[in-house]
Amino acid sequence: MSNSNATASEPSFRESVDIMFNRAVALMDLPPGLEEKIRVCNATYTVRFGVRLRGKIETFTGYRSVHSEHMEPVKGGIRFSLGVNQNEVEALAALMSYKCALVETPFGGSKGGLCIDPREWDEDEMERITRRFAYELIKRDLINPSQNVPAPDMGTGEREMAWMADQYKRMNTTDINGAACVTGKPINAGGIQGRVEATGRGVQYALHEFFRHPEDMKAAGLKGTLDGKRVIVQGLGNVGYHAAKFLSEEDGSLITGIIERDGALVDDGGVDVEAVHKWISKHGGVKGFPGATYVENGAEILEKDCDILIPAALEGVINMSNAANVKAPLIIEAANGPVTAGADEVLREKGCVIIPDMYANAGGVTVSYFEWVKNLSHIRFGRMQRRQEEARHELIVGELQRLSEHLGDQWSMTPNFKQKYLRGAGELELVRSGLDDTMRTAYQAMREVWHSRDDVHDLRTAAYLVSIGRVASSYKAKGL
Ligand code: NAD
Repeated sequence: MSNSNATASEPSFRESVDIMFNRAVALMDLPPGLEEKIRVCNATYTVRFGVRLRGKIETFTGYRSVHSEHMEPVKGGIRFSLGVNQNEVEALAALMSYKCALVETPFGGSKGGLCIDPREWDEDEMERITRRFAYELIKRDLINPSQNVPAPDMGTGEREMAWMADQYKRMNTTDINGAACVTGKPINAGGIQGRVEATGRGVQYALHEFFRHPEDMKAAGLKGTLDGKRVIVQGLGNVGYHAAKFLSEEDGSLITGIIERDGALVDDGGVDVEAVHKWISKHGGVKGFPGATYVENGAEILEKDCDILIPAALEGVINMSNAANVKAPLIIEAANGPVTAGADEVLREKGCVIIPDMYANAGGVTVSYFEWVKNLSHIRFGRMQRRQEEARHELIVGELQRLSEHLGDQWSMTPNFKQKYLRGAGELELVRSGLDDTMRTAYQAMREVWHSRDDVHDLRTAAYLVSIGRVASSYKAKGL
C-alpha cells in the first residue's frame, strides 16, 4: 500500500530499492554483469485460486517472489494486505536478500503476499483461504524447509504460520523436518521463545548499539541515553508495539506519539503503550482513547518534533511530500521501505541519521533462523546444558560462600548474586543473547564502512555495501 500523499513523480517501492542499490554498487568494483545478476528477482510466481465462501466462489491473488538463491533456503515473510502487488513483493524479496546477508543468516531472499483484508473474514474463513494459498505454494516447493521458508509479516502471525506448517505436513507426511517449512509458529507447534517480540526487540537492540557510539549520536545531534528520549511510533502492530513497549518500559523513553490507521495519539509526557494496545484490540483503532490527545490526521504527527521516529507500519510514508518537514534527527526504519529514495536524499541533506530497514527490522529473520535451526535439530535450545551449567555455578558459589564466611561479613556476597548467577540460560535467554549479538555485530560492520570511507555518507549505503559485498562473494565462490 503506497502512501496516498506520495507525489506522482515519486519512484515506486521497487524503484526506490533499485535506486538505493545502484547508489551503493556505483561505489563497488564488481565483475561485469554481477551487479545486474544480484539486482534482479530470480522468479516471481503469481497464483489465483478460488475458495467457496458465503455461498459463492471468491477468487484471490497471491505472490511468492524469490530474489536471490545464492544461499538456500530462501527466506521472507508472507503479507496479507489489500495493497499487495508484484512490485511490492519483489522489492521486499530483494530487501530480504540484503538483510539476510547483513545479519549473516544463511538464506537467500524471498517474500510473499496475498491480496486480502484479513479483517473482512472470520477465523474459519481465514483458515480455509490460508490453507488453500499454502497448498498452491507447497506443491511448487515455494514452501519447503530446504528451499523456501516463509514467516509472518503485515497481516499474518503465529496463527497463519501454524496453518501453513500443518498444511505442509499433511502434504508431506514423511518429511521429518516438516516443522522447519515456516517460522514464526506458536511454541506448541514448533515455534521458539521470543519470536513474536523479535523484530521489536531487534529495534530496541539496534538503538542500544547506536547509543553506544558517541560519534554516531553526534552525527544525529543526540546526547545521553535512551532515557527520557521522545519517541514517535507509526503502527502499533507486532513490530511497533513491541519496540514502543520495550523502549518505554525498559529504557525510560517517552512515547510522545502513536500513529495508527484512524489517527494519532499524542502526549508530551508519554502515552501508555500497553493501555493503547489494549484499547486498539477492543475498539479497532486509537480514536476515543481517554489517556492522550487524539489527532485525526495521523500522518501529520510524522512531522512533530521528537528525538526518534519509528515508522513501523507501511512503505513510502516518508516521501517527497513531507520529508522536508520531518523534524526527527534519528529515524529507525522498523517497517520495510518507509522512506522513499527521494525523501532519503532530502533527509540526509538535513543531517538526519537513518538506521535502515534492512538492519533495523532484521530481528525477525534472525530469530526465525534460530527457530529453523531448532526445528532441524529437533531439540530446544539449552535443554542439554542448562542444568549442567547450573551445577558448575553451584560449585563456584559454594566455594565463594565458604571463603566469604572465613573472611568476614564485609566479604559477603551481594544480595541476589547467588540466585542470579545460579540460573542457567533457558531458550528465551539464549534467543535474546543471540539476537543482541547479531544486532551489535551487524551494526558494527555497517558503521565501520560509514566511518572509514570518504565516499560513504550514510548508514543505508554502508549497509548495502556490506550486504552486496557478501552476496557477491557467495556468487563468486560458486564460480559465477
Ligand atoms: P502488523 O500488521 O502487525 O502491524 C501493522 C500496524 O500498522 C497495524 O497496527 C496497522 O493498524 C498499522 N497501520 C496500517 N496502516 C497504517 C497507516 N496508514 N498509518 C498508521 N498505521 C497503520 O504488521 P507488522 O508485522 O508489525 O509489520 C509492520 C512492518 O514491519 C511492515 O513493513 C513489515 O514488512 C515489517 N516487518 C515485520 C516483521 C515481523 O516480524 N512481523 C519483520 C520485519 C519487518
